[in-house]
Amino acid sequence: MFYYGKIKEPLNIKYMIISKDFHFEAAHHLRNYIGKCQFPHGHSYHGTVWVDGKRNEIGFVIDYGEISEIINYFDHKDLNELPEFQELNPTAENIAYTIMIKLANKLTDTHDIAVKIHETASSSAFKTTNPRLIFLAR
Ligand SMILES: [Zn+2]
Repeated sequence: MFYYGKIKEPLNIKYMIISKDFHFEAAHHLRNYIGKCQFPHGHSYHGTVWVDGKRNEIGFVIDYGEISEIINYFDHKDLNELPEFQELNPTAENIAYTIMIKLANKLTDTHDIAVKIHETASSSAFKTTNPRLIFLAR
């Protein structure tokens, strides 16, 4: 049993939530949709990724660099040209979902993930693997 000052270490001490804020620029247009986003245009997407999991032997839940790698994949791209968005429309919701899947594919241990992405200053989408993390959507 480890003690930090007078705090007895809880059993789940290895579990922590990390977060990484991100930003990327990308173009998109929405198919089968009548409205502003039917025409090609760009957004300054920004948001946050959270990973809830066990620290590995290095002390990481996940290397922040791995999150950056996933985000950089979208930067300065026409999202409609990416294989992920040949069927799915590149909406903020579907981008959040895609980021979550890409992250899940990198994680080997049991982890929960949450992704919040803003398409504009006032519009965002949130996706999580665990409803317990819904408070992060605020
Ligand atoms: Zn748009």
